[in-house]
Amino acid sequence: MRILRTVEELRHWSRTCRCAATGPIGLVPTMGALHAGHASLIRAARAACRHVAVTLFVNPTQFGPNEDLSRYPRTFEADCALAESQGADVLFAPTVEEIYPADARTFVEVEGLSDRLDGKSRPGHFRGVATVVTKLFIAAEADAAFFGQKDAAQVSVLRRMTRDLRLGTEIVVCPIVRDADGLALSSRNAYLSPSERIQALTLSRALHRVEALVAQDERNPATLIVAAREEFAAEPAVRVDYVAAVNWDTLEPVETAVPGTLFAVAAYAGSTRLIDNTILR
Ligand code: AMP
Repeated sequence: MRILRTVEELRHWSRTCRCAATGPIGLVPTMGALHAGHASLIRAARAACRHVAVTLFVNPTQFGPNEDLSRYPRTFEADCALAESQGADVLFAPTVEEIYPADARTFVEVEGLSDRLDGKSRPGHFRGVATVVTKLFIAAEADAAFFGQKDAAQVSVLRRMTRDLRLGTEIVVCPIVRDADGLALSSRNAYLSPSERIQALTLSRALHRVEALVAQDERNPATLIVAAREEFAAEPAVRVDYVAAVNWDTLEPVETAVPGTLFAVAAYAGSTRLIDNTILR
């Protein structure tokens, strides 16, 4: 596995793959601190594409001023080993200056979606995500890019952005990978103390409760939200950010929880903000 540092190197790699005309190019954007969730995306890319690039970039523009940019886990050597073991051909790990030249003034905003769910709680977050993913897509000229359902609102923003800008990269969404007890894997789980790790299970428990109600044909989103909030109320150490039942394309609240509805939660265990979701059946 080769390590690439500049946009030019990534573009050159991609164009060389394209010239060889041997099959599709897959891209797996990440912020590093790779875990089994990221590994599943790399494997999915490997299975679908002839060429696979993993990107590793802690994107400063998607962090708010009081968020965890400076202490975000950075585990470069382990990330290289994991990406290589899952079949990545190249790892693109640029500097901040490479992605954001000092005089850069161009950002990508997906109006109407960028300020919903996590975008509402984290102003500017999706503008940062949309901007960096656009830059990666333009540089990599990939046929497909692999993202986790774990960041479901991000998927909505990126799907719309890709469509609006006709970027030509297909967005492939992969299932949420969880620990055995149900906690969705996240690089931020590393922040949790043992007691917060237990409290964090409230998120997946709330989603299970909702799924069980839907299995009994409960379709009223208000009832589902109340049930999820009851789970959070039983664990007062966890502070809810949002509990929402929305259309996965528009992120607007639904009137009826139909199959395909995104039921999403965000909450703090200690000072760590966690997200999780389920797509209702
Ligand atoms: P991150 O490094 O947190 O920005 O995540 C990079 C990609 O990995 C995103 O598309 C995430 O949705 C995805 N991802 C993160 N956690 C998981 C998980 N537990 N299961 C599947 N994909 C995940």
